[in-house]
Amino acid sequence: MSRTETALVIGGGIAGPVAATALRKAGIDARVYEAYPGPAFTIGSGLALAPNGVAALDVIGAGDAVRDIAVPVPRMCLSVGGKLLPAPSLPDQPPLQLVDRGELHRVLHERAVAAGVPVEYGKRLVAADHTAAGVTARFADGSTATADVLVGADGIRSTVRRLIDPAAPGPDFTGMLGFGATIECDIATPDETIVFAYGKRAYYLYWPLGDGRIGWGANLPSAEYLSLTEARATAPERWLEILRDTYGEDHPGGPLARATTPEQLEVTGALHIMPSVPHWYRDRMVLIGDAVHAPSNSSGQGASLAIESAIQLARCLRDLPDLETAFATYERLRRSRVEGVAARAAKINHSKTPGPVARTLMQLIMPIMARTMNPEKLAGTEQRYRIDWAEKVL
Ligand SMILES: Cc1cc2nc3c(=O)[nH]c(=O)nc-3n(C[C@H](O)[C@H](O)[C@H](O)COP(=O)(O)OP(=O)(O)OC[C@H]3O[C@@H](n4cnc5c(N)ncnc54)[C@H](O)[C@@H]3O)c2cc1C
Repeated sequence: MSRTETALVIGGGIAGPVAATALRKAGIDARVYEAYPGPAFTIGSGLALAPNGVAALDVIGAGDAVRDIAVPVPRMCLSVGGKLLPAPSLPDQPPLQLVDRGELHRVLHERAVAAGVPVEYGKRLVAADHTAAGVTARFADGSTATADVLVGADGIRSTVRRLIDPAAPGPDFTGMLGFGATIECDIATPDETIVFAYGKRAYYLYWPLGDGRIGWGANLPSAEYLSLTEARATAPERWLEILRDTYGEDHPGGPLARATTPEQLEVTGALHIMPSVPHWYRDRMVLIGDAVHAPSNSSGQGASLAIESAIQLARCLRDLPDLETAFATYERLRRSRVEGVAARAAKINHSKTPGPVARTLMQLIMPIMARTMNPEKLAGTEQRYRIDWAEKVL
């Protein structure tokens, strides 16, 4: 029998609602505390869920609701020097599921509420105190909440990470700024395909949505670090000038940048990757999701890994007799997997910001690589991962 009866989940992004739903399923009374004043269903832009992430959502009964709002993308291509090259994929795996981030938030929130999870907004965690009987979260509005455990699902700038270890590393800057948009643009695109494009000066990606619209994202190299707030302090019109200049000679990068309006442009700011975090837990506090393992957008796995970790933590708390054993087992189940994905993404990040010589070499080497890449080696371990909820964790 688990001795954990109650849990405070800090953060109502992706990992938070999934963890709270899974904890409820494990018989633990979980509540979510989110810093935003209300549900963030209007924060848009596209996000691709990998087969392993969608399968993990099936464990908490959210898989079908997510498939309903998603556009399945069965094929991937690389575009190098303007040439489209099919990227190897695993034919027996379900397609990537492209979702609008705001829609995903809505579905996960609704699933948590349906499972009986209370969600409180305007609750920014600032501190936590331990007693023999529990952990008390202190919020910026002066209120408190107490439970047996506190789960830090508070994203890449995690406060819980610093409460666990004041010397914990923060996220590294990948050297790129993120932008995205969903637009109408009259260009030919391959059907049901996501294209990862190495343009003349920068990397971008695009995907047709099947309804005449196209989603696209830009990873703009930048020597200067700009937080989300700093990046949004620059007018979108100015960012569009820069994007049109950077991608102007690319096809379809140029047309995509030119067709995007300031109102459509989503500015994400610096793109990050988390280095290895030495301490995943302490006393009654534990981390999940980007707070402890953000593999950067290049992995296409950040949200999927966050969902997996949330569910594995709930299994460990359900099955193991004490917190120390449950947290240590959770870390053992997760650390090597998430750090392996981050290492792969770090290599891709490197390839997105090459110097002029490396860029020329890439144009020669990548077509050969695309033909000879072993999809099993590339994505097998990542995409075939499945969680057996019924299996007892030992
Ligand atoms: C441009 C871009 C593209 C991406 N594309 C993909 C993709 O295609 N596929 C993919 O799988 N992943 C992708 N990712 C990564 C993915 O978005 C993250 O891995 C995922 O959002 C992590 O979920 P999370 O719940 O851990 O963190 P978040 O989604 O960041 O949620 C954290 C929540 O905690 C709240 N919070 C923060 N501090 C506090 C506090 N002190 N108290 C209370 N609440 C707090 C925040 O307001 C937020 O709601 C992308 C990321 C970026 C930046």
